[in-house]
Amino acid sequence: MTTLSQNLHAVRTRIAAACEACGRSPQSVQLLAVSKTFSASDVAEVAACGQRDFGENYIQEGVDKIESLSAYHFVPALVWHCIGPIQSNKTKWVAEHFDWAHTVDRLKIAQRLNDQRPAHLPPLQVCLQVNIDGGATKSGVTPAEVLALAIDVAKLPKLSLRGLMTLPDPVDGFEAQVAVHTRARALFDEVRAVLNSPHFDTLSTGMTSDLEAAIHAGSTMVRVGTAIFGGRTYAGERPLG
Ligand SMILES: *Cc1c(COP(=O)(O)O)cnc(C)c1O
Repeated sequence: MTTLSQNLHAVRTRIAAACEACGRSPQSVQLLAVSKTFSASDVAEVAACGQRDFGENYIQEGVDKIESLSAYHFVPALVWHCIGPIQSNKTKWVAEHFDWAHTVDRLKIAQRLNDQRPAHLPPLQVCLQVNIDGGATKSGVTPAEVLALAIDVAKLPKLSLRGLMTLPDPVDGFEAQVAVHTRARALFDEVRAVLNSPHFDTLSTGMTSDLEAAIHAGSTMVRVGTAIFGGRTYAGERPLG
């Protein structure tokens, strides 16, 4: 076994144990492998172990990987999730190349993604990013505004509104982590009750350091980078060219 396949196996084991500890089915939690800063060949290696969903933060870097990995023709196909900030000038790239966007937090961005989604592709799967812990500099719609945004986004025909996403600041201790994720779950349930859509089924929350707490609180998709691919050597957008 390679390091990457061992890491992936260890993460799946953590997810299964966390599900078991709170009486959930392991199938109720999807694993999104966050491959930002890692190479297309690393992604191919993890995909060869059966992982299909991959998350990218930096749109240009993600598109480069999507294009180079399309040559492998994985069956079933890889599913690409944009989990980084989406500026207006990047919506076209997301609409044309990704399957999911987790970070929609404004109607204007949703409308652009809708308008730019190519007709031959299925609707873009969308989560609304919520600023659940109120960090002042953070992206995400406020909890008070999320329902109104959800109602508007749900009307866009080339988007499929799948749920909510949160990226809380790290906190120490299981109980404190659970408390934050529980607020996200409560908001998710509130919005779901109003929308009453079978497609609204995804709470994207929890990462390497807090996936057990997120699963305990009701996350349905954990986004895990470090525990699969290892530590990252840069944090910002890779310089182009
Ligand atoms: C990098 C990143 C992750 C993965 O974080 P790890 O701590 O490496 O698991 C998850 N979600 C988002 C939005 C990220 O930017």
